[in-house]
Amino acid sequence: MTGGRNFDSPLSAQLERNLADRRMLENAVFGHPSRPVVMTVANQKGGVGKTTSAVNLSVALAMGGLRVVVIDADAQGNASSALGIAHGPGVLSTYDVIVGGQAIADVLEPCPDVENLQVCPSTIDLSGAEIEMVDLPRRAYLLSDAISEFLSIHRDVDVVLIDCPPSLGLVTLNALVAADQVMIPIQAEYYALEGLTQLWTSIDRIRVELNPKLRISTILLTMVDRRTRLSEEVEAEVRSHFPDLTLEAVIPRSVRVSEAPSYGQSVVTYDPRSAGAVAYRKAALELSHRLAAKSAASRE
Ligand code: ATP
Ligand code: MG
Repeated sequence: MTGGRNFDSPLSAQLERNLADRRMLENAVFGHPSRPVVMTVANQKGGVGKTTSAVNLSVALAMGGLRVVVIDADAQGNASSALGIAHGPGVLSTYDVIVGGQAIADVLEPCPDVENLQVCPSTIDLSGAEIEMVDLPRRAYLLSDAISEFLSIHRDVDVVLIDCPPSLGLVTLNALVAADQVMIPIQAEYYALEGLTQLWTSIDRIRVELNPKLRISTILLTMVDRRTRLSEEVEAEVRSHFPDLTLEAVIPRSVRVSEAPSYGQSVVTYDPRSAGAVAYRKAALELSHRLAAKSAASRE
């Protein structure tokens, strides 16, 4: 380099792409589904980016003008924290909805940073729910019934996103029985596809036995590092197995993404220009168009 800007270097190419993406996003028009879509973010594998994706996609969708409800269905309450929602003892939560029959509308809290985004928080109480639910009537339909009741009144909601724990227990079952669609985040890592067959089989069984409308609609590649061969190989493998399901947008591994939750924020609000935020906004835009297209098709 001789003092001028060198657009051939990987860093400047990256910056150019970031700028072009941000310009595109500024003028982008998000799609709106014609009726509310319930999407469950699931993968029984831990730490693959379920919560990060549920949080950032919901913020980006809400900023794109959609009305979004996030249901935190993980006792860890990480989605609640990242969205700036209190979830200490005594807070009405997803536990009260599932086990106590509380109406979702009574539990929702508005996200302090983002308009059009409401959160059903999760507290540690949910960790005992698996056992308490076993004897309840309609135990697989508890969340589904609550969401149906909520949406029958709040018809202007566009998307309900449910963040699941890393298991295929009764809480996740409830989240899948309540859903129209499943999003599976896949971490671009060694063993990325491990456990996917089990998840697929479980979802197939739930479709046959409990929820005929359920389908896997979306795969999102997370923590992608395009500088490594492994990441590239995983991405290529996922795309070759699931060409229609995998979003074009991928989420890069980025420190900003992982530090945002400690400020009670999504990366989209914490550092909107960062690569991670731009990637989640692109993924949300793409997702919104898919939701709009699918809901138009299902009316025909
Ligand atoms: P669990 O199974 O425990 O619920 P999860 O699937 O919800 O986990 P996350 O909590 O979203 O996964 O992510 C796991 C960890 O990886 C977190 O510390 C998160 O901050 C970090 N992380 C997620 N996405 C990224 C990313 N794109 N870049 C860097 N770190 C990330
Ligand atoms: Mg999580």
